[in-house]
Amino acid sequence: MARTANDSLKRAAITLVMLVTAKAYSAKSQTSPLAPFAIQRRDVGPSDVQIEILYCGVCHSDLNQVRNEWHNTTYPCVPGHEIVGRVVKAGREVKKFKEGDVAAVGCMVDSCRTCASCQAGDEQFCEHFPVLTYNGEDKQLGGITYGGYSESIVVDEGFVLKVSENLNLAAVAPLLCAGITTYSPLRHWKIRKGQKVGIVGLGGLGHMGVKFANAFGAHVVLFTTSPNKTTDALRLGAHEVVVSKNETEMKNHLNSFDFILDAVSAQHDVNAYLELLKVDGTLTLVGAPEHPLPVASFPLLIKRRRFAGSIIGGIRETQEMLDFCAEHGIIADIELIQIQQINNAYERLLKSDVKYRFVIDMASLKTEATTQG
Ligand code: NAP
Ligand code: ZN
Ligand code: ZN
Repeated sequence: MARTANDSLKRAAITLVMLVTAKAYSAKSQTSPLAPFAIQRRDVGPSDVQIEILYCGVCHSDLNQVRNEWHNTTYPCVPGHEIVGRVVKAGREVKKFKEGDVAAVGCMVDSCRTCASCQAGDEQFCEHFPVLTYNGEDKQLGGITYGGYSESIVVDEGFVLKVSENLNLAAVAPLLCAGITTYSPLRHWKIRKGQKVGIVGLGGLGHMGVKFANAFGAHVVLFTTSPNKTTDALRLGAHEVVVSKNETEMKNHLNSFDFILDAVSAQHDVNAYLELLKVDGTLTLVGAPEHPLPVASFPLLIKRRRFAGSIIGGIRETQEMLDFCAEHGIIADIELIQIQQINNAYERLLKSDVKYRFVIDMASLKTEATTQG
């Protein structure tokens, strides 16, 4: 009896782990460059879709994770959470997608779906932690999840987004992280016409922040350490540009902002920005530098200012953001690269030298011979 039960469990397990090999790029350790690697994806389950990945954006978080800067990376690490592709297979219970549809995946591929946050559509705050697209716990295969620097991915349709075919799909990819990460806090803090909004750092997140804040009607001021980005910032939707190293320029804006979104990837002085907020103004951090950022008490106390944070957005809000972008013709400004250029792209990210998001053309992976690690 026990053996029969055991045998059926084994059979069930084998059925569950029908695997499909996919080419990918991975890092073997925190000091290794990304290199070709073969990974296993599960075959589609009843509510899964298999997506052939066409484009994957390169987020600064990919670099942080690959280099273990948040001290939680499991290797090999296949990053990538700005994924746009085409559905090549849909499970029998899938309702939203059919073969041939354009589909997208962002930073999460699953969550508990039952806690209060999941029920409220805020899967990013799942009390059991959402399953991240890479370096998350793979509930089906064991081990960790592998991200979008890969030719295909299999995801439950509940975590797959619909994308308008009318937009440039390569430039849609960054919306899946940089887009939602800036859209969500600007919506949460109800940014609107008549408000003065600052965006700090003109990188992948920052340039989307400028576009959204402008689209929501705010007066937008971009803070940058790169004076050569001024013309671009104005073209992207900023009304003013401040070079943050210039103290006089900074002083001109003291006590004047309703809201500031800080999208800087490295150490910097947040107190200088707190002082620019007016009474009850909010500085929201979306950047995730490796080390803590010291906050002085007085800039907070004296005008009842708030220092907050925000992380990506829920699935419902991500779809809302994609629909908003389709309606308003908003996409990212990108540099399309081949996967073979990824290590160089990371070095350029560290020099704030990207205009304004690298996106990998995943067709370049097809020519790679991958070996299983
Ligand atoms: P990115 O494209 O590399 O842009 C970061 C920008 O920060 C740079 O372009 C630069 O802008 C500015 N910067 C860089 N070093 C600086 C320094 N030492 N001092 C001041 N400014 C500096 O990065 P990203 O992909 O937009 O990501 C930004 C941050 O957000 C990263 O920490 C990433 O991990 C994090 N992130 C968070 C979430 C979330 O959900 N909260 C989601 C995605 C990413 P200027 O040249 O204009 O100064
Ligand atoms: Zn990201
Ligand atoms: Zn949950």
